[in-house]
Amino acid sequence: MTVLLREQVADAARRLAHEGLLVGTAGNVSATSGDLVAITASGVVLAGCRPEDVTVVTPTGYVVEGELAPSSELSLHLGVYEDTDAVGVVHTHAPYSTTLACVLDELPVIHYQQLILGGAVRVAPYATFGTPELAVAVRAALEGRQAALMASHGSVTIGPSLSAAVDNALLLEWLAALYHRASALGVPKVLTQEEQDDVVRQALSRNYGNPQELASE
Ligand SMILES: [Zn+2]
Repeated sequence: MTVLLREQVADAARRLAHEGLLVGTAGNVSATSGDLVAITASGVVLAGCRPEDVTVVTPTGYVVEGELAPSSELSLHLGVYEDTDAVGVVHTHAPYSTTLACVLDELPVIHYQQLILGGAVRVAPYATFGTPELAVAVRAALEGRQAALMASHGSVTIGPSLSAAVDNALLLEWLAALYHRASALGVPKVLTQEEQDDVVRQALSRNYGNPQELASE
């Protein structure tokens, strides 16, 4: 079982590197199954991440499989799994997400697709990487959300599967780039709460985001 889990984490890391969200050794990816968490190891070049570059730990961080020390943000990942039903966690220093995290206190909803992440994305206050203080701040910023930004640092996304956490990281980066470009032209218009509520209603009634068969005659 852990063979598959380590493969899935390595595949996700390589994909995010290919998409430009993970650069060099910066960022980390994890997934949980049963009582175990598989996380990219510290110092691994993520574009070439192999299953043996993924370390398997218990919920308390005890290494049960792998030769390499787990990511320095392990306590953040473990804390998120403790707080939520997430199955995958992605942490990046992606270019646009990190840019906004250096300026904003919150990424407001200027495009309806952001509601997939749960609404406005909070920016967790700055704390040194790898510290319990940072883990606490990010866990609070994630409340009711699938994403958070980390001040002067990067992004975290979660999901009910590892692939959903990856998709959410890509979506957050797209939204951050959108906000960046829109801000260059003027003040981005923020969707009102009523407009956001209407989107949720419409999405539910249309099963938005899933392929739908044509009604047969
Ligand atoms: Zn980081």
